[in-house]
Amino acid sequence: MIYLDNAATTKPCTECVKAVNAAMENAFGNASSLHGLGTSSIQIIARARKTLLTAVTGTKKPFDGEVLFTSGATESNNTALLGSAHRFRPHGKRIVSTAIEHPSVAKTLTRLEEDGVEIVRLAPKDHEDFVAALVNEVDENTALLSAMAVNNETGFAIDVPRLYREVKKKNPRTIVHIDAVQGFLKVPLDGDLISVSGHKIHSTKGIGALFIKKGAKVLPLLSGGGQQSGLRSGTEPVELIAGFEAAVSAYRFDKERFAELKALLLQMLAEMEDIGINSTEDCVPNIVNFSVRGVRSEIMLHSLEEDGIYVSSGSACSKGKSSDVLPAFGVSEKDVDCAVRVSFSAENCAEDIEKLCDKIAKTIERIRR
Ligand code: PMP
Repeated sequence: MIYLDNAATTKPCTECVKAVNAAMENAFGNASSLHGLGTSSIQIIARARKTLLTAVTGTKKPFDGEVLFTSGATESNNTALLGSAHRFRPHGKRIVSTAIEHPSVAKTLTRLEEDGVEIVRLAPKDHEDFVAALVNEVDENTALLSAMAVNNETGFAIDVPRLYREVKKKNPRTIVHIDAVQGFLKVPLDGDLISVSGHKIHSTKGIGALFIKKGAKVLPLLSGGGQQSGLRSGTEPVELIAGFEAAVSAYRFDKERFAELKALLLQMLAEMEDIGINSTEDCVPNIVNFSVRGVRSEIMLHSLEEDGIYVSSGSACSKGKSSDVLPAFGVSEKDVDCAVRVSFSAENCAEDIEKLCDKIAKTIERIRR
């Protein structure tokens, strides 16, 4: 198997599997219990909090705030946006965002829009300096700005610390939310609210986090037993949290190696005819999106799968539906239908890229014959 769909999800690493198993065997107690087993769970959660707060910024300075464990980034994004709804009242307040957000942000913004909040959505294709364009939209009425650190379809990355700094300079009251699912442990991060997900960094599915900076109050979505300081009721999944901590500690983003794989892929694609490259210079090296003109994404995906090569047609969440996001990068309708996303992990090597390109070339030949 050649797995090149790591932006959709990653294989849990050995460290994560071991930590989940150990917690299931030895720390299955409820963190709210007063006996010793509960204490072991509390200790695992406390350690995971510390590891995450240190890791998230991507600098030596830990995050200045708290971290909530959630079921994944969909919940983190919903909590960040809907839990900030008190800031949008009275009506008339606005949110600045982008046209390239994941559905867990995009659809939540639409819900708020239906409730009367003004939403501004900027597309990268319309702006040379995207960060400056976002900051430019912030005014005294802007309650929140929500932007993704790294786009899941193309790998397009923004300078998040710069965005945060400049928004705060313009309006210190504007809350900055960053969907950092594809940027976590890969690029430097800052924000008032930061969403991340475990299964994109070799942890399990079903665990994520929302970082909340000191002073950035969020109201809870779930009512119940008052766990996690009342902000996220529900018994903490200590096994998943242990696995998340282990995966974060073990994670290494080998930028140079990914850049080499990306360069090789781009070079081999350049030797083929009718290929459009949808990932620009501003993209992270582990995600490459391109269009094989004349071969629809689905046909290409299934053809590659015959040889055990797994890629994606874009966002796994859109399930075969063509991308709403690629047009915001200036990709034509025709190219959207033929888009392929390749995303690397540390397990990939040059031979994987060679096999991928060889099969793409064969598929093109077969279809066009
Ligand atoms: N945001 C982005 C950018 C994503 O790529 C994803 C996962 N595809 C999500 C949010 C949702 O994350 P989860 O699967 O943890 O709910």
